Amino acid sequence: MSRILIRGGRVLDPATNRDGLFDVLIEDGKIAAVEAGLEVPGAETIDAHGRWVTPGFVDLHTHLREPGQEYKEDIASGGRSAAAGGFTTVCCMANTHPVNDDPAMTDYILDRARQDSPVRVLPIAAATKNLEGKVMTEMAALQKAGAVGFSDDGKTIMDGGVMRRVLEYARMIDAPVSVHAEDCTLVGHGVVNEGPVSTRLGLPGNPCAAETVLVARDLLLAELTGAHLHVGHVSSAGAVALIRQARERGVHVTAEVTPHHLALTDEATLGFDTNAKMAPPLRSAADVRACREGLADGTIDCIATDHAPHAPHEKDVEFTAAPPGVLGFETAYPVVMDMVRNGEITPLELIRRLATNGARILKRPELGSLAVGAEADVVVLDPEREWTYDPAKGFSKSRNSPWTGQRMTGRALVTIVGGRVVYDVERGVIAP
Ligand SMILES: [Zn+2]
Repeated sequence: MSRILIRGGRVLDPATNRDGLFDVLIEDGKIAAVEAGLEVPGAETIDAHGRWVTPGFVDLHTHLREPGQEYKEDIASGGRSAAAGGFTTVCCMANTHPVNDDPAMTDYILDRARQDSPVRVLPIAAATKNLEGKVMTEMAALQKAGAVGFSDDGKTIMDGGVMRRVLEYARMIDAPVSVHAEDCTLVGHGVVNEGPVSTRLGLPGNPCAAETVLVARDLLLAELTGAHLHVGHVSSAGAVALIRQARERGVHVTAEVTPHHLALTDEATLGFDTNAKMAPPLRSAADVRACREGLADGTIDCIATDHAPHAPHEKDVEFTAAPPGVLGFETAYPVVMDMVRNGEITPLELIRRLATNGARILKRPELGSLAVGAEADVVVLDPEREWTYDPAKGFSKSRNSPWTGQRMTGRALVTIVGGRVVYDVERGVIAP
């Protein structure tokens, strides 16, 4: 029997509302005990004094680029990068080449993940064929193959009738539909948030209304159909307010926000840094404030990275030509820890939004939890560890981060998936 004893850490487990000093015993891949003063002769011991011991993070929104764009990332490198950031489960979006709109492709991704990835990979399949927003995919067959949800992320389903049918079908099979809410006719050629910054840069703006219009439509369609709508990467104060109102009237909606939309404003683009270009774009300080408040008050359920690797030659071009998106896994925890340091959210509630709520949205209660019997997906975190982020020393194949060279506070030290230590800050990625 394999046994790991994590001793003396501050256990933060939102699933059991536990916040205190305990030892955590892992036996045969499951959480076996969480108690003070455990003595287990023969167990491998991890000293966690002064550290946090939490469920591994669950990321509902990532791009692992395999198949088709392995020069940016693949399931192995993305999985390693996730492990180094404290993530133990990541959902990968369908905009690969070919698109994950067919059960054989879902199968393929799961197979690669079993062989190559140190963390769990759960595919989100396309909602429409080839992400074209026209013909629905075979959602039941995709779900049977292992898809945990549906999304045309990267694209918007602009046809309201198609979106309604997607939601109706998803409701029948009890699957969430995650949306990239940007009205592309309002985005136009916009590459930065529309406002004073776009004017100063002389670049075409992408207004908040592009997001709020689509969020409003999709909330109404979720209400009409009774389906579970998940709003991806919320970026605007207006979207936060709409989600809050919809939730109050009982619409089945959940939502996520990225670390970059919580931490950076559109001013980060003032130097034309393409590593500050994303979709939706970085917004105003008021929008950032609203996203942080929405996360703290529970309107926004979880933090998702939208990890989106791009090769240096793709980002090293003029701003309008660069693809949107940034790396996310290895910087997420220190970036969002800022909210704990500012007193905006408690450690337990932050971990709920990094781990437990994502598992709840996926209806996987055995993940994101340190309850006895849960999967032993555990991370040991040092909330005070200072380090300098250098993507060249990280695990992603790409380098596109707005935090390159910056001092970070907080780091994942040990990541355990299914009872196996897969990452250790001293030794790097250990398995597979
Ligand atoms: Zn997206």
